Amino acid sequence: MTELSVGPGLDVEEAREDFLRRAESIVGAENVIRPETTEGYRDPYPLQPGRSPWPGVRPADTAEVQALVRLANETGTPMWTFSRGKNLGYGGPEPRDRSTVALDLGRMNRILEVDDRLCYAVVEPGVTFFDLYEYIQERGLKVWLSVPALGWGSVLGNALDRGYGMTPLGDHSKQICGMEVVLPDGELLRTGMGAMSGTGLGPIFQGGFGPTLDGLFTQSNLGVVTSIGLWLMPWPEVYVNGDVTVEREEDLPKLIDILTQLRREDVIQNNALCGNVVRAVTMNGPRSRWYQGEGSIPPERLEEIRQELGIGQWNAKFGIYGDKGLAERRLEIIRERFADLEGFTVNARLYEGAEGARVAYADIADQDRTQMAGVPTLKPLGTINYMAENGGHIDAAPILPARGEEVWDFYQEVKDLYTEYGFDLYIGYHLYPRHMVHVTMIYFENDNEEMLGRARDLYERLLDAARRRGYAPYRSHIDYMDRISDGFDFNDHAVRRFQERLKDAVDPAGILAPGKQGVWPARYRGGR
Ligand SMILES: Cc1cc2nc3c(=O)[nH]c(=O)nc-3n(C[C@H](O)[C@H](O)[C@H](O)COP(=O)(O)OP(=O)(O)OC[C@H]3O[C@@H](n4cnc5c(N)ncnc54)[C@H](O)[C@@H]3O)c2cc1C
Repeated sequence: MTELSVGPGLDVEEAREDFLRRAESIVGAENVIRPETTEGYRDPYPLQPGRSPWPGVRPADTAEVQALVRLANETGTPMWTFSRGKNLGYGGPEPRDRSTVALDLGRMNRILEVDDRLCYAVVEPGVTFFDLYEYIQERGLKVWLSVPALGWGSVLGNALDRGYGMTPLGDHSKQICGMEVVLPDGELLRTGMGAMSGTGLGPIFQGGFGPTLDGLFTQSNLGVVTSIGLWLMPWPEVYVNGDVTVEREEDLPKLIDILTQLRREDVIQNNALCGNVVRAVTMNGPRSRWYQGEGSIPPERLEEIRQELGIGQWNAKFGIYGDKGLAERRLEIIRERFADLEGFTVNARLYEGAEGARVAYADIADQDRTQMAGVPTLKPLGTINYMAENGGHIDAAPILPARGEEVWDFYQEVKDLYTEYGFDLYIGYHLYPRHMVHVTMIYFENDNEEMLGRARDLYERLLDAARRRGYAPYRSHIDYMDRISDGFDFNDHAVRRFQERLKDAVDPAGILAPGKQGVWPARYRGGR
């Protein structure tokens, strides 16, 4: 946690109190959250125990956001923006600086449009994946959305933090098409084609006229996004969910190379997932059910568990969507690619029915299958209690090139580190055409100082190991944003210096999300 002052001669607490008092006349007293009387905001899985909750404000609409931004400028009180604040593993709703107030956009929860002809939605920040899914179901609209593992988060917030799901449109930030943004001085901006008044092109064409601005507001502290256009996919005639199980650990490179080649050829249409035995154990936890000893679960015990669960050393899942004839041909090609490999097994299930893949939902019990079908759930939340009832986690998820031998090499180093620190190595790789997200989780018991100390040390070693090879995470817990940003060091951190110039130009008072992704406003930078 960074503890920088708001500026020379300014009392942090007084400025914030002034802000909160005056905010009551903007959002109503009941929407000014004070930890003394209500719950307040905090990271549910803090990496350092003993953090106190934060105050916040809950605007109902864009005009209230604008008024709050202007008030923040007047009082010098920074705000930390989030939409639902379910960014678990990354700090949740927690800001980076003590003087900050949470800007909680959860009340702005209107679904402004869903078009099932051109397949897009326009949503406000508070709309959850459950909300959008139910809206589509109730109206019988012929579109699928893409969901992350937990459905209670914000469609908009998840996309802005570059979250992902597992349908063909699973790379969520790439589906954003047009934004409405409150700038740090309170002005309202629309990006892309939506910058013209009286047009319906905003959520339809990603470009605009001149430099594209949408990217400036992802993982950013340059504005408060009050709505986005988001592309959806047409409801497919069939949905095929396939598994590839691999018997030998050392066959990982072959698996990665074949799956990503199939993805590059668009035979597999989603970003496949590849998990190890520990991942399966976390879904059948708690850990104590399988192993009660100290340190990482030993390989012999893991092998027994694997046999008991009837799974492979590697268990990959992929999806195929659309026309039945095409889907069957795609599946045939996938089977052919693995046919001659010993220890590889391909299984698949095709969902169809009178109403297309819709009927499949009732019988989808497996959480990965559900996610690949764009159905929101909270089931994976159970994995958090793997180590203890009061569990938490952080994930170390660097981006790697999708080359089997490089992945294998890094995997070996990571495995040794997990053993050194006594954690079980959870692997859940997400495979894209050219890169992969090397997702590893560290599960811990909240408030257990000894375990948290080991988790932090392991996490830092993982970051270092990745950076040495030229890899870095695509997203970060608030406590590590500076450290990861430090790694982007080409030409004396030219990227960060440019990000800071932008920040200072559009937010000279430094009132929006100071320190987000390692970008601090000028008045904070002395402490670096
Ligand atoms: C078991 C488990 C599984 C998970 N699986 C996945 C997964 O499959 N995929 C995945 O992506 N994540 C996953 N997560 C992480 C996380 O839960 C989700 O990404 C979640 O959707 C993020 O919370 P949110 O949607 O409420 O976003 P928010 O917390 O609202 O927003 C995230 C961040 O985006 C920025 N932001 C949000 N709204 C705005 C705005 N209006 N203007 C400007 N900036 C804004 C802020 O910096 C904010 O911190 C998982 C977590 C757990 C615990």
